[in-house]
Amino acid sequence: MASAPFDLSGKVALVTGGNGGIGKGIALGLGRAGANIAVVARNQDKSAGAVAELEALGIQAISIRCDVTDVDDVDTAVAACVERFGGLDIVVNNSGINVRKLPHELDLAEWQTVIDVNLTGVFLMSKAAYPEMVKRGGGKVINIGSMMSIFAHETLAPYAASKGGVVQFTKACASAWAKENIQVNTIMPGWIATDMTETLRINVPERYETIRARTPAQRWGRPDELAGTAVFLATSASDFVTGTAIPVDGGYSIQS
Ligand code: NDP
Repeated sequence: MASAPFDLSGKVALVTGGNGGIGKGIALGLGRAGANIAVVARNQDKSAGAVAELEALGIQAISIRCDVTDVDDVDTAVAACVERFGGLDIVVNNSGINVRKLPHELDLAEWQTVIDVNLTGVFLMSKAAYPEMVKRGGGKVINIGSMMSIFAHETLAPYAASKGGVVQFTKACASAWAKENIQVNTIMPGWIATDMTETLRINVPERYETIRARTPAQRWGRPDELAGTAVFLATSASDFVTGTAIPVDGGYSIQS
């Protein structure tokens, strides 16, 4: 009998940046749906905390230290996940960083760091996961974009360039890997209260309020609110959905 459409029992999911914020929210959602979880990030204390949280819910989880900009780290992370759980079905490319400056104030290193983590990291992990998914007869890649995949802001040039790139990279992979039954999609979160946005919320409260007021839902989102869409994109319920970019934003992106 075919499994229920939102059931991930027996599936293996690797979540980059799964040790906090949106990534941890998604890891918990995929785990609750039945998946085994590899939490992939640099900060091992944070990752141990996330693994403990997952295990407390009866979810099998491991932490793998990895800098997504380092090709050896990425290849080793995929190998470690496969060794522990026997394969890899789902990758969530969630790791991300931001540098807030005007374009002419950025130096090359700042530009490259953001592009390396947010875009090149997605490429490296997707490429490493692809052969493992082929071995399993299919798979799901879920990339985390942003409202900056659609819009831009004067202080977010490399971030917006990287997140726009994620959407286009997603389409290319979706097209290339459809014949191998691998679906590749982007989730574009709206404004979510996490470590990444904490400085903005605390230091620029007027911008925090402008964003809240512009959002039809009239509030910021929570990290756990990306999990439902991630579960949908990770399960057989989305087998005919590929190359899309889905906003989860309380309606922020429909406003003119
Ligand atoms: P957090 O700062 O809470 O999480 C970022 C995560 O990325 C951390 O887990 C961090 O782990 C990981 N990370 C950073 N650099 C690397 C690296 N070089 N290698 C591996 N992992 C890395 O932010 P959010 O949860 O808010 O962000 C998660 C994703 O969602 C990002 O891609 C972000 O751009 C995106 N997003 C966030 C929005 C928001 O409003 N919060 C809105 C739209 C998109 P560690 O430091 O341990 O490596």
